[in-house]
Amino acid sequence: MKVLVLGAGVVGVATAYYLRKDGHDVTVVDRQPGPGRETSYGNAGGLCPSFAGPWAAPGMVTKVLKQSLQRHSPIRFSPLPEPRRMAWALQWMRNCTPERFRVNKLRMQRVAHYSLQCLRDLVAAEPLPGFDFHEGGVLQIFRTPAELELGRLSARTLEEYGVPRRILDAAQAAEVEPALARSAVGMAGALHLPADASGDCHKFSRNLAALLQQRGVAFRYGVAIESIAREGDAIGAVRASNGETLRADAYVVALGSHAPFLLRPLGLKLPVYPLKGYSITAPVDDPDGAPTMAVMDEHNKVMISRLGDRIRAAGMAELTGYGLGLDPARRELLVGVVRELFPQGLDWSRVEFWAGLRPMTPDGPPILGRTRWPNLFLNGGHGSNGWTQSCGTARIVADIVAGRRPAVDLDGLTAERFHRA
Ligand SMILES: Cc1cc2nc3c(=O)[nH]c(=O)nc-3n(C[C@H](O)[C@H](O)[C@H](O)COP(=O)(O)OP(=O)(O)OC[C@H]3O[C@@H](n4cnc5c(N)ncnc54)[C@H](O)[C@@H]3O)c2cc1C
Repeated sequence: MKVLVLGAGVVGVATAYYLRKDGHDVTVVDRQPGPGRETSYGNAGGLCPSFAGPWAAPGMVTKVLKQSLQRHSPIRFSPLPEPRRMAWALQWMRNCTPERFRVNKLRMQRVAHYSLQCLRDLVAAEPLPGFDFHEGGVLQIFRTPAELELGRLSARTLEEYGVPRRILDAAQAAEVEPALARSAVGMAGALHLPADASGDCHKFSRNLAALLQQRGVAFRYGVAIESIAREGDAIGAVRASNGETLRADAYVVALGSHAPFLLRPLGLKLPVYPLKGYSITAPVDDPDGAPTMAVMDEHNKVMISRLGDRIRAAGMAELTGYGLGLDPARRELLVGVVRELFPQGLDWSRVEFWAGLRPMTPDGPPILGRTRWPNLFLNGGHGSNGWTQSCGTARIVADIVAGRRPAVDLDGLTAERFHRA
């Protein structure tokens, strides 16, 4: 079958991999000059199923409103009455109850653990060049006793999912991540998640796309899709802004935060809205001072990953629309957090600053699989977890395209849940 994948972010490229494995004739289309150039470019690098959970959580509504009023808060919410944002925010608020949180978290955990296993299987099976994959786990650090208490609570929750975890005191944390020993930050403790990992999402997307090209997958870069056209009861073509018409038997939409615009004219209202975040990337100049693994600073909600000879730090959550403007205050905030934790080891004269849009669903889980159009499939709404979830969800969607039953129960992971609500 001829399949067109719309979007060459990590999700689109991974989907193309599993579709090709099934023997399909696959073409991937993207407006950028290469793969993984939008949200998949500068993310935190965390492959952290243990953290997978909804942004819609009990207490979050008050927290977002309160923090939005503070000048340097990591959270920003634009009060301008933009209809899509308001509709999304209302749905998000409805999901902030303890019951909804539990259901949504379970759904996300189901996908995330399966996904990391799929990524590991892919890496084991394929001659993929390196992408700074680090399998030594992730360390979540707590600066105050109250944060540590929440960490203990989250460790107990992870027990439910059978996730390996260990609560550490400050000295034990510095044994796991020796660079912390040089830090002046007081630490109440840490949660070590040895089964989690990290890696460079952009490098992975680029390397996997190159491998797929060798295997006959066509990549059409620099092609902006303008519309998805129906023909009778099915999708008949995709029209590009260069006037080209691309045809296939099946279409997979993996357009990140931009998917709703192309789906709406087909009568599909996808509640995906961008949550902007920022990252900095700095070269390591003293390996003893730089972290060797991914460290989540819970106090500042900033994730710091070691990506080969660089570190990446990412965070912030802004519900302010589609703008990708770079706010220098955000850069300073990220630099300040990393410098406080790791005062030596990084070259601050060569920092790359970046912003990206997390494609958030109001409840948290991604949106996978079928639509009312029999040959149109979705792989989107990955929010803060798209790198972690890329391979598993790609495999699930390829299973659905092939008419196979996916290994993961799809309850709560399809667009159906929004029609029922
Ligand atoms: C600050 C930050 C930190 C993050 N940290 C992590 C993390 O540690 N771990 C994790 O798992 N996830 C993380 N994420 C989330 C993760 O990066 C995303 O979920 C993931 O990249 C989404 O991938 P995607 O392929 O769906 O979207 P994208 O990467 O945005 O890909 C969509 C593609 O569609 C293309 N496109 C869109 N519209 C059109 C059009 N009209 N025509 C042609 N092409 C089009 C774009 O060019 C783009 O290449 C983070 C995100 C941010 C912003």
